[in-house]
Amino acid sequence: MSETADAIIIGTGVIGAALAFEMAKAGWKTLSVDRNTQSGHGSTAGSCAIIRMHYSTHDGTAFAWEGYHYWRDWKDYLGLPEGTPLAQFREVGCLVMKTEANGFLEKHMLHSREFECPFEEWTAEDITRRLPIYSLDRYGPAKRLDDPAFGQPTGGALGGAVFWPNGGYVNDPALSAQNLTEAARQHGARVLLRAEVTGILTEGGRVRGVKLADGRELHAPVVVNVAGPASSKINAMAGVLDDMTIKTRALRQEVVHVPAPEGFDFEADGMIISDSDISCYCRPEHGNHILIGSEDPECDPHEWVEDDMAYNRDFTDQWSLQAQRYGQRVPSLGIPSQTRGVVDLYDVSSDWIPIYDKSSLPGFYMACGTSGNQYKNAPIAGKMMAELIAYCEAGHDHDQTPLPFRLPYIDLETNVGFYSRKRPVNAESSFSVLG
Ligand SMILES: Cc1cc2nc3c(=O)[nH]c(=O)nc-3n(C[C@H](O)[C@H](O)[C@H](O)COP(=O)(O)OP(=O)(O)OC[C@H]3O[C@@H](n4cnc5c(N)ncnc54)[C@H](O)[C@@H]3O)c2cc1C
Repeated sequence: MSETADAIIIGTGVIGAALAFEMAKAGWKTLSVDRNTQSGHGSTAGSCAIIRMHYSTHDGTAFAWEGYHYWRDWKDYLGLPEGTPLAQFREVGCLVMKTEANGFLEKHMLHSREFECPFEEWTAEDITRRLPIYSLDRYGPAKRLDDPAFGQPTGGALGGAVFWPNGGYVNDPALSAQNLTEAARQHGARVLLRAEVTGILTEGGRVRGVKLADGRELHAPVVVNVAGPASSKINAMAGVLDDMTIKTRALRQEVVHVPAPEGFDFEADGMIISDSDISCYCRPEHGNHILIGSEDPECDPHEWVEDDMAYNRDFTDQWSLQAQRYGQRVPSLGIPSQTRGVVDLYDVSSDWIPIYDKSSLPGFYMACGTSGNQYKNAPIAGKMMAELIAYCEAGHDHDQTPLPFRLPYIDLETNVGFYSRKRPVNAESSFSVLG
């Protein structure tokens, strides 16, 4: 392994791997470094890998709608040899309940109309026809299990929902990162695993490379921080935190897997469902299970994690809370005594919108703060970051004159400054995993 490259990418998660693929295609000699033994085994492996198009902001919606197309065209996008096992995108659709909390989705439908992203409005009858296991009684706002009002309907029923037919999920997110890594290798990218970055090297006011835990140095004029929940540590090593108005922090999350109620094939007939009335989202999980995630209601304390390598990986009361919140919607749901699911970390930014940007250290870039909602955008984020790096390395000042960037599938000029580390906190955000 030679110890120099054009660019070192820290992290082989889905975004780091997409960036390696896009940079390698553009002719960069990239070297990806990861402390794990396999690519995609960071937070990407724990991802619910939901591909959806409803975001709170105009730019977030455009990016996610663009992002969908790469999963739809996954095989062609990668160009891997015939017979390579590929992650599968299951286009089961995404149903979002209309609630007061989401403004009955008026803004989301407006954005979707603008970008010609298909959606359908469903009545309560439409919902129960497709999901006969569902009760539409209202329970919001979400409560904790020790609240005597938990599980008591709060009056009335959900009146309808919006269905985005192109939503879905990827069945094996770690494999999708490995697919990208393999595709990058086809274009000459190199990958160094079991290598932990412990320092960022600088020389003459510019990045010079990275230092590894075993003392080795790797040299490159460009280094990119795509370290997921470790992003703030790497930014601190580079000394680039001072000019960032948006910071990142690791947040612990539990995801629940329970069997679907007997007699209903959720794997075949279910879909992605986001339900702010019970503060849960769900999707089909293989073996006719239902995967249940949290939409981070105000009553749940945030479990910020200082050390992304040492946190509690066991399920806690949060597991049964999420299962029972979902049980309000599906009264026939059986909740097993044996807990199954995932415990992992989000890399949360101050406004739950990612940072795709340069930094105050010339040659040092970051793609981080993905806030539990950027798996779907990995390929387009990789493409945009590759252009941003080329733009800055050609001498442009992205802070003053942001990179002009067109989203290729939906043919729309996007505002890359939207993702700036120096932006004001975006008040339009949901300040939750919904972005
Ligand atoms: C429970 C959960 C559910 C999610 N659900 C969804 C969803 O449904 N839809 C969606 O769009 N998004 C979702 N996300 C978010 C999505 O998974 C992430 O945004 C995405 O996977 C981040 O990819 P990444 O490549 O940036 O980071 P990661 O996959 O975390 O990769 C970072 C890599 O950096 C490496 N690294 C870190 N520090 C060092 C170091 N010092 N030296 C060497 N290597 C280092 C790590 O080993 C890791 O492999 C979810 C996330 C979680 C945790």
